[in-house]
Amino acid sequence: MAESFDLIIVGGGPAGLAAGLYAARMELHAVLLERGPLGGQLLNTELIEDYPGFESILGGELAVKMGDHARKFGLDIREYAAVAGVELEGVEKVVRLEDGSTLRAPAVILAAGGLPRKLGVPGEVEFAGRGVSYCAVCDGAFFRGQELAVVGGGDAAIEEGDFLTRYASRVYVIHRRDEFRAQPILVERAKANPKITFILNSVVRSIEGDQKVQRVHYVQDGEEKELEVGGVFIFVGFEPNSAILSAHADHDPNGYFLTDREMSTSVEGVWAVGDVRAQLTKQIATAVGDGTTAAVAASQYIAHLRHAERSGKPAPEPAATYSE
Ligand code: NAP
Repeated sequence: MAESFDLIIVGGGPAGLAAGLYAARMELHAVLLERGPLGGQLLNTELIEDYPGFESILGGELAVKMGDHARKFGLDIREYAAVAGVELEGVEKVVRLEDGSTLRAPAVILAAGGLPRKLGVPGEVEFAGRGVSYCAVCDGAFFRGQELAVVGGGDAAIEEGDFLTRYASRVYVIHRRDEFRAQPILVERAKANPKITFILNSVVRSIEGDQKVQRVHYVQDGEEKELEVGGVFIFVGFEPNSAILSAHADHDPNGYFLTDREMSTSVEGVWAVGDVRAQLTKQIATAVGDGTTAAVAASQYIAHLRHAERSGKPAPEPAATYSE
């Protein structure tokens, strides 16, 4: 027998937790499902210095604070509850968990984030967990005293490369251009770090080794080169977890859901927030804003449905919370 809710939130990162906090405060019968421990990308970040009000806080600490805050207002949070898929049955959404159970609700907020994008070079899959990593906070300490390569030129590569220098004797940041997508403040900090060496205009061709990673092959300005390293940390972006929704919802060419100003997808009763949504940037502050907006919109949608059920006729459209 499926459990029924007003609202099901899929994903327990900052976007999902903000949605959950607002949903709980608005007294919706809501549940939040998270495949692992709460936190999402917060758990892959050591230190956070760009979330207003928190000059400097550990990612894991902020995750615990956000979870505790939502629980304080009564949100039903279920960790290690992996969602296999979300299907539509008329106005109802059916959320199937990997353990075989199902949950139902008229409203679903997708806050499922994404997975690290693969570089797609020989050796990447073979050496995963044996020198190839996508998480500096998780794996950095295994490489104490070693030389490491970081691939990418975005915020994640530059920030995590900087973080890795607390363990590594040297970090080579290999980037395919000579300009960075990363914020200038992060690039300046990395350039000032004597343990970081930039290798620019360079494309990684393969990762090689024996039992574990021993070297990286790359091409710089047409010249084949080799670098001896004990590990390769890959930060070349994210793939959104949008395939979780079985119905078609409009998305961009990279699979990120397109939403309106209320975070609504093109499927009625389904909202998308945080890293699974197409937007300019993926910051904790924007994820939290997305979650807040979606929870308010979902609450209005549910009130609208309930009113229609009670009166037996369609209710007026929910009032907008602001006007353009
Ligand atoms: P990103 O901003 O998309 O950057 C990806 C980087 O990987 C780019 O430098 C890109 O190069 C490179 N790249 C992509 N595909 C590649 C390939 N096949 N081979 C070699 N290089 C490749 O991804 P991200 O750094 O993971 O960040 C994702 C989002 O999270 C961003 O919005 C970011 O702002 C946010 N974030 C923020 C923070 C923070 O504010 N502290 C920390 C982490 C992440 P090109 O530049 O040449 O395309």
